[in-house]
Amino acid sequence: MDYQAILDEIYEEAKAFKGQGELATYIPELARVDPLKFGIHLTTAAGDEFCVGDSEERFSIQSISKVMSLAQVLPILGDALWERVGVEPSGNPFNSIVQLEYENGIPRNPFLNAGALVMADILISRFDDPRQVFLDFVRKLAGNPSIEYDLDVAASEGATGYVNASLINMMKSYGNIINEVDKVLEFYYHQCAIAMSCKDLSHAFMIFANEGCVFNADERILSKSKVKRINALMQTCGFYDEAGEFSFRVGLPGKSGVGGGIVAVHPMGFSVAVWSPKLNKKGNSVLGMKTLELLTTKTGTSIF
Ligand code: GLN
Repeated sequence: MDYQAILDEIYEEAKAFKGQGELATYIPELARVDPLKFGIHLTTAAGDEFCVGDSEERFSIQSISKVMSLAQVLPILGDALWERVGVEPSGNPFNSIVQLEYENGIPRNPFLNAGALVMADILISRFDDPRQVFLDFVRKLAGNPSIEYDLDVAASEGATGYVNASLINMMKSYGNIINEVDKVLEFYYHQCAIAMSCKDLSHAFMIFANEGCVFNADERILSKSKVKRINALMQTCGFYDEAGEFSFRVGLPGKSGVGGGIVAVHPMGFSVAVWSPKLNKKGNSVLGMKTLELLTTKTGTSIF
């Protein structure tokens, strides 16, 4: 398969949609990003790499970080995690508060903000310096020790995160948050504010394409069974109330973030990351969705 020629073609075709979508302005710092940035990086299980556009420029990974926190939390708690977070798609926006009250403070799944806040709470209970431990984990997955938190983005979300504050207080009232809410929010905002490139993300997500083995390292840090579960959750919950649409159009497990990134994996095939900051109404990158739809269509690599 000539992935480079296909990526070049997709890059040109997807650009036709660059007028569509809006930047995520509810985190003020994200509204400062150049809306026309666009990059793609694809890594195959055989170790070949292909890229186009702004694929080495770092951006705010936001909710994509939730997959990496799940990969860190799941081996710590095992199935006990599912007593505090569900595994069902929510059909609601990522920051919806309605369902959380009906369901007694148990988030539907780990990729909703509420679910990620529970995982942040678990990491805080487990580690003295969770920020450093999480950053080290991400650096290891990506094979890049220079990855950092973007402190301006973290502070910007901290100053305006009223809905997340509501979610965590609701869960605290139901006993599903152990630590101080401010401490958990602070860690969560940092986790979301990690800055990575498409290349970094494509490398990091090879762990989900490669049965738990870290990219370019002779080390397995997740069992096959845990990878299977995480990929299943990406498939059913990775795009919130657009998870069906992503399955329908793209047909791969994946995860989006409001920084405009999307990562998708083809188990035993490849890991691909796309970045284009303009989002549709559901908070997913317009060009990112289009790019991945074209990729699986042209290469016949939907898992269905
Ligand atoms: N940090 C963002 C928030 O909590 C993450 C949302 C996202 O990327 N979908 O709202």
